[in-house]
Amino acid sequence: MMGDALHRRDEVLTIVGAGPAGLSCAIALARAGRAVVVRERQPGVGHRFHGDFQGIENWSDEVDVLDEMEQAGLRTDFDHQGFASGTAFDSRGRAHVLRGSRALFYLVRRGPQSGTLDHALLCQAVQAGVEVRFRDNVRSVDDPGVLAAGPRVADVIAAGYVFDTDMPDGAWLALDDRLAPQGHAYLLVHRGRGTVASCMFSGFKEQAHHVAATVDFLIAHAGLVMRDAPPFGGYGNVRVARAALQGGHPVIGEQAGFQDALAGFGIRYAMRSGLLAARALLGGQDYRVLWRRELLPAIRAGVANRFVYAVLGDTGRWAVLARLDDVDAVAALRRLYRPTLISSALFPLARVLRRRALRDRSCDHQGCRCVWCTHGDAAASSCVGDT
Ligand SMILES: Cc1cc2nc3c(=O)[nH]c(=O)nc-3n(C[C@H](O)[C@H](O)[C@H](O)COP(=O)(O)OP(=O)(O)OC[C@H]3O[C@@H](n4cnc5c(N)ncnc54)[C@H](O)[C@@H]3O)c2cc1C
Repeated sequence: MMGDALHRRDEVLTIVGAGPAGLSCAIALARAGRAVVVRERQPGVGHRFHGDFQGIENWSDEVDVLDEMEQAGLRTDFDHQGFASGTAFDSRGRAHVLRGSRALFYLVRRGPQSGTLDHALLCQAVQAGVEVRFRDNVRSVDDPGVLAAGPRVADVIAAGYVFDTDMPDGAWLALDDRLAPQGHAYLLVHRGRGTVASCMFSGFKEQAHHVAATVDFLIAHAGLVMRDAPPFGGYGNVRVARAALQGGHPVIGEQAGFQDALAGFGIRYAMRSGLLAARALLGGQDYRVLWRRELLPAIRAGVANRFVYAVLGDTGRWAVLARLDDVDAVAALRRLYRPTLISSALFPLARVLRRRALRDRSCDHQGCRCVWCTHGDAAASSCVGDT
């Protein structure tokens, strides 16, 4: 069990997966003097991403997320840009300007390239003395270590384009089930590069239709202009883990299902859970106790929020957006994400109904060739079972 591994400082710790979760954990362990090997099945980091922009959310906590990273010993030397405002459209096409008293989120790039979050964390890990082995597809882990292999099933998908543009920098969001069923469409532009996508929590089979509708909408409402625009896509796994332990190994990041169930902002969860696992291994603490105390309340609130979001429908979401118009959006979103008595009370029902909602009725699974019906990549789940 995990406890035996804790007291043997000479033992090499194995981490499966070189995403933000695995690398954050590896950096913290190596800086504390432990020998760490990260095993990554791809030829480099960030191969599940395409140079697309993502946002590290900065509203769920009082502490700015970049300060949180620095305090935890993770350097923020990746390309990033804080966005303190953005435009959100409701399903009537009405624009609401969201303004925060500080950055609402930090725009980062994901992928293998220099300057991405993934590449920066890799460099930090190597500098800290971590050995990273690429093209190493792990099937099982006997050594003491941590599982960080990313999503195992597709509960949410995002698909769209990365592109060059002359548009000014900006962030746009659209809450409209015709563009992104039960999710959101987004457009992020920074220094001549852009990402546009439909992030869907349902209706995966109609992906191409939703992406086309998203592009048309943002051309009309945000002046979207794209050049050299290859398509991209990806999936995410939202789950409330039972123990987040497998074979005694802490399971972190999306492999444990740690995600923002409302909107899919999983990066902060990935890094936090990686740091928690490192703390557990270094300090002889029970990882289950740590993640349940530090992450579970927010995960449950996210599941409850997702339930409310589904119930509200497009019409109810107009009202929510309208309430964000003239207030500090960071504070308003923090209130929304904060665990409350109401979210606790809603959680059991929301959890059951969420599972039911994930059964995609648009697919009969008969002779289906749709990638989402395989629910992700079987290889990714080969070293893991139910956590
Ligand atoms: C299109 C898209 C947009 C997103 N946008 C946002 C956003 O704006 N903000 C946000 O916060 N989050 C966003 N997310 C979610 C975020 O990217 C993830 O939550 C985060 O990357 C999870 O980190 P992780 O380390 O747990 O997993 P990953 O980043 O998936 O890393 C897991 C690693 O494990 C490796 N691996 C898998 N199986 C094995 C194996 N058997 N052996 C060895 N290695 C293995 C994989 O190759 C991968 O490198 C988005 C996700 C997608 C797909």
